[in-house]
Amino acid sequence: MSSLVTPAILIRRLDFGDHDLISTFMTQNFGKITAIGKNAKKSVKRFGGSLELFTESNIVITKGKRKDILFLQEAYLEKPNTNIRKSISKTAYASYFSEIVNLWMEENFKQASVFRLLSHSLCGLDTKTIPAEISIFFQVQFLKLAGISPELTKCRCTELEDIETPQFTFSLNKGSIICKNCSDKISGIPLSKGTVKLFRWIEECDPDKVDRIKFSNKALKEGLLFLEQFLPYHLGKNPRSLDFLRNLRRS
Ligand SMILES: [Zn+2]
Repeated sequence: MSSLVTPAILIRRLDFGDHDLISTFMTQNFGKITAIGKNAKKSVKRFGGSLELFTESNIVITKGKRKDILFLQEAYLEKPNTNIRKSISKTAYASYFSEIVNLWMEENFKQASVFRLLSHSLCGLDTKTIPAEISIFFQVQFLKLAGISPELTKCRCTELEDIETPQFTFSLNKGSIICKNCSDKISGIPLSKGTVKLFRWIEECDPDKVDRIKFSNKALKEGLLFLEQFLPYHLGKNPRSLDFLRNLRRS
């Protein structure tokens, strides 16, 4: 029975019977995979703290007799990301990132760039103080990797640079910016030139240099409002973790 080894982030876990655990990982080498951990709930020695959500580990998996079933044999904790689990707000954002990756990725479809983005974003949540900034970074970069970035260069009547007002809207079903002159009967999400500029910087930014980007309060608020509607619209699903995140912000 040959083993496979890969860096992996635990994005979902389900109890299975009294002792076993069904774990979904975003991995570097094999994309999203789901594996059964036999006796995982008891085997502290084999798994240590690596079966906590949002941890990054090197995992060892084997294929069962039926090739589509994977078994988790061992896991070696690399990044515990413990601060995330100590904060309800950070946990809510981490759940949202994980759910998006889980909803979007097909099983066994390798996309190392998505693994790196998730790893980097969870690490950012763990170490930095403003989760909303990490969330904007994650969502903008995710849209780019998924090939579904919004078209933010023009209204149907003119280029972005030539739109006279700094404020305009974005129509989800038209998939386009709507300037004031075209806004009759078309409602949209508020957006401004400053926020569009921020999205462009993030798209082109090396993840290690994201600290250098300055987020104004307005761009932070507007960016979240826009991305949290745009992303689910294009996924075709409403992540449950997003409802939780919104309720948390209201309370
Ligand atoms: Zn227009």
